[in-house]
Amino acid sequence: MYLEIKNIHKFFGTGENRTEVLKGINCNIEKGSICVLLGPSGSGKSTLLNIIGGIETAEEGSISINGDTIENMNEKQLSLYRRKHLGYVFQSYNLIPNLTVRENIEVGAYLSDNPLNVDDLMKTLGLYEHRNKIPNQLSGGQQQRTSIGRAIVKNPDLLLCDEPTGALDYKTSKEILKLIEDVNKKYGNTVVLVTHNDAIKNMADRVIKLRDGQIRHDIVNTEKTPAQELDW
Ligand code: ADP
Ligand code: MG
Repeated sequence: MYLEIKNIHKFFGTGENRTEVLKGINCNIEKGSICVLLGPSGSGKSTLLNIIGGIETAEEGSISINGDTIENMNEKQLSLYRRKHLGYVFQSYNLIPNLTVRENIEVGAYLSDNPLNVDDLMKTLGLYEHRNKIPNQLSGGQQQRTSIGRAIVKNPDLLLCDEPTGALDYKTSKEILKLIEDVNKKYGNTVVLVTHNDAIKNMADRVIKLRDGQIRHDIVNTEKTPAQELDW
């Protein structure tokens, strides 16, 4: 199994304020699949993603990727894992304001042995004609495309997306989610996608719903529909 999430417990706060925000999360995610993580605000989605991404550590449990357990990595190994194998897309695009589209994407190739061809990638993302613009010359959707480019230019095994369409209008959201699907098809990255867009579950291989720090539904979607054909 590609991504193994075993019995994750996570607490925040101290003393009386100590609360358990993840209460024993277990799931295995297959290589190359799209897993959509749904759930109300505060249910622990970002925390789980951050634990998978090695940004936060759990009090209990383990995360293994291709058999390598994150908890067993030293700082250097973790840093290497994060830089080489992990792509992250957030709701906020976090682009560097004085760098062009091309340069912002190239930043993501830093320390990768085997980055994708940036021109090809910009074409896939519909950014080629905007390649010499800086972020404030771009629409929100174009900025998010750029941040997806930065995340995937190193061709990461794992692409973690935390509400990537949270700041976008409906139409642009659809475009971005479709683009994430295209990227998954073209490059084969395993995708874990947090979203509030319920319709998107139809394009997923796997749908996990979190509520109050626990998995309430875990559904393998056997009738996956390409985003293009979704009626949403
Ligand atoms: P979601 O992404 O599903 O909205 P989060 O994972 O961000 O949920 O948060 C889950 C719970 O953990 C929330 O109650 C939130 O307030 C709390 N929380 C998240 N991060 C921290 C933190 N750094 N310190 C304290 N509490 C936190
Ligand atoms: Mg969140």
